[in-house]
Amino acid sequence: MNEKPEKLINKKGIRLDGRKADELRPVKLEVGILPNADGSAYIEHGKNKILAAAFGPREMHPKHLSRPDRMVLRCRYHMAPFSVGERKSPAPSRREIELSKVIRESLEPSLFLEYYPRTGVDVFIEVLQADGGTRCASITAASLALADAGIPMRDLVVACAAGKVEDKVVLDLFDTEDKVGSADVPVAFMPNLNAVTLLQMDGQLTPDEFEKAVSMAIGGCRKIYELQKEALKTKYMLIEPEEEDEE
Ligand code: UDP
Repeated sequence: MNEKPEKLINKKGIRLDGRKADELRPVKLEVGILPNADGSAYIEHGKNKILAAAFGPREMHPKHLSRPDRMVLRCRYHMAPFSVGERKSPAPSRREIELSKVIRESLEPSLFLEYYPRTGVDVFIEVLQADGGTRCASITAASLALADAGIPMRDLVVACAAGKVEDKVVLDLFDTEDKVGSADVPVAFMPNLNAVTLLQMDGQLTPDEFEKAVSMAIGGCRKIYELQKEALKTKYMLIEPEEEDEE
């Protein structure tokens, strides 16, 4: 049995990993790291390490799943067996099937699916290391991978959670806080359209706490969005300009 840590937040309001209530974990993003994919991204969000690879628009297999009026987005969220303390079976779990669905639903509103009828785009998400909040980090990376693949989109999607730990609403829960804390509210958000594309809640919150958690999570999303834009720009800055003939 895991021992429950005595205090998740100390008297000074500092959390177990040294953060204040409204502080994000460090986030690092990279775009275009898998040459075999049409688009790819890597995220380190605290101790989470996740790869996302996008393929398409391309012919759908099996063909009968294609739609005459739009492109079909498919997402697969998968956790490596070594990504968590206790080995996870490599077979898809109910949780992974659910997360694949909610990740797809959070990304769909951002894409112009109607531009590519009868085609499909696949996003594969591989969690290499997990430490709480992997669905949010996966959405942030998957949206970047789709942008990197050149799929036309209305906005990027960025995600972050807030929750309740020791009667305090805090931003971006890590694994222990997620498991021992009393609530977790993951939010995915399109910052330019000011639209929420995913809102889930695990645990119990009062209406006031819920509102505070959602606005805190959106605040976190806006900060991560700046890093998403930087990561996309960095990729294009690294592309060497073609040499002009000097004649
Ligand atoms: N986790 C685990 N084993 C599993 C699934 C999850 O140890 O088989 C851990 C992992 O660190 C994950 C955390 O539990 O990040 C919280 O999982 P949850 O289902 O709340 O999704 P997440 O917060 O990652 O979106």
